[in-house]
Amino acid sequence: MKAYWVSLILISWPLAPPVQAQTWQAYQSPGFTVQTASKADARYLARLFQTLERARKDLKEWGLQPPDRVWVVVHPNLESYRKATAQPWFVLAQANRPQHRMDLQRLSVVVERGQLEAVLRHEYFHLAQPEDWPSWLAEGSAMIFAGQKPTAKALPGISAARLEEILANPPNSQTLARAMAAAYDRARAYWKKRGRAP
Ligand SMILES: [Zn+2]
Repeated sequence: MKAYWVSLILISWPLAPPVQAQTWQAYQSPGFTVQTASKADARYLARLFQTLERARKDLKEWGLQPPDRVWVVVHPNLESYRKATAQPWFVLAQANRPQHRMDLQRLSVVVERGQLEAVLRHEYFHLAQPEDWPSWLAEGSAMIFAGQKPTAKALPGISAARLEEILANPPNSQTLARAMAAAYDRARAYWKKRGRAP
């Protein structure tokens, strides 16, 4: 069983925030618990909750079943994020399906890139999608649901097996972006053929 899905929204440079003691705060709404450790990030909470609530409605309209409660952990720095997810710096967020949890890098970083809604919708999609989907379908469909467009040229003529390998273990941010573009194209063709979204 696949335990993790990663967001393949890319950021453009490594972050090197200062390491400091963390005081976590938890915020709740019906169906969501959000944990932050940074005052700077707390200011985006209203937007975050609104986005998640809207996305929950949209997931149900797509015929998917989001978990009853989702746990969102917003990390105050890269070290905290990497410790929790083991993801490279260029992966902005990770969805952990068995725990109904998503881990995000600092919201201020996500917001600066105009990606807050897209990242939340993308990861939330992974928590609600059927778990036996191949990665290309999961990632491509999550991008469609999140309204994300590819940020690089798709890897040409790549086999499904090779695409799965790259998505599972991307060698660098550029190859990942190109693999995501290939997944997006495949997912678009897949859903077009079926005449409906998931
Ligand atoms: Zn993803």
